[in-house]
Amino acid sequence: MQGLNWLYFDLNSYFATIEQQVDPLLRGKPVAVVSLLSDSTCAIAASYEAKLKGINTGTKIYEAKKLCPELICIKGRHKLYVEYHKRIFAEINKLLFVDAVCSIDEGAGRLTGKYQQEEEAIRLAQNIKLAIKQNVGDYITCSIGMTGPIFTTM
Ligand SMILES: [Mg+2]
Repeated sequence: MQGLNWLYFDLNSYFATIEQQVDPLLRGKPVAVVSLLSDSTCAIAASYEAKLKGINTGTKIYEAKKLCPELICIKGRHKLYVEYHKRIFAEINKLLFVDAVCSIDEGAGRLTGKYQQEEEAIRLAQNIKLAIKQNVGDYITCSIGMTGPIFTTM
């Protein structure tokens, strides 16, 4: 029987989390990353705390401020996000070859050998999360999922 075959990862609230990583004063607070500081623009990323208030990517800032008057808007720093992308992906590559870079904050790697077993794949996923926290930034989290082949009964 074949086991799991792909591991997918997706950094959580990526741009907003990186802002919270580099500025601890932003942690635990509703943050929206924007392309320019204007109420007529929209959020290009929202922190976990902002999402709890109903703010998401694409929410207009004037609407977001109605939902959450204490919202902190930060002008996006693309170079910084690319820099962290390189560091995070390099860290993951030490544990699992990243076959596919899907976007700045998403990727996938093939599971082979012992990592096709569920317990080993879960341990690998935990190690990836830990390596990012310990070696890149303690505030950075990611979601990880695994898939297996589709079984058919004959
Ligand atoms: Mg993401």
